[in-house]
Amino acid sequence: MKVRSLREEVLEANLELWRRGLVLYTFGNASGIAREEGLVVIKPSGVPYETMKAEDLVVVDLDGRIAEGSLRPSSDLPTHLVLYQAFAGIGAVAHTHSRVATSWAQAQREIPCLEPLMPIISRARARYQTADAFANPLRLRNQHGPCDRAALCQS
Ligand SMILES: [Zn+2]
Repeated sequence: MKVRSLREEVLEANLELWRRGLVLYTFGNASGIAREEGLVVIKPSGVPYETMKAEDLVVVDLDGRIAEGSLRPSSDLPTHLVLYQAFAGIGAVAHTHSRVATSWAQAQREIPCLEPLMPIISRARARYQTADAFANPLRLRNQHGPCDRAALCQS
């Protein structure tokens, strides 16, 4: 995949997180990888979603060195890179802070697996499994995420 078109896709993924209310302020991020080129496109740090443009996105190699862009990459870049390096089959990573997920994470409550095909969300700290990431692709990080008025951290 060409980096230019990946920039547009990653921009759209980030904006979709924002439009759907899955991120708060400038938190959260999405990235995508161009495997053949060995490059990752990721949201820049601290740029509001409402003004973000494709040229604001940062292109880095798999060691995190900036290949294109004048802004700093998301501070979550190391996590994205670990996932891309550990799982050759993934093409994108989305890091959200939905109100429900953040509330569960802050409450440190276990989420039961309701049916066999539903991804299991771990209450443990984020871990990077070497097993099949596609069988269990979602993680909820213990006590992670910003709090707003609706979040449980008020109590
Ligand atoms: Zn986060």
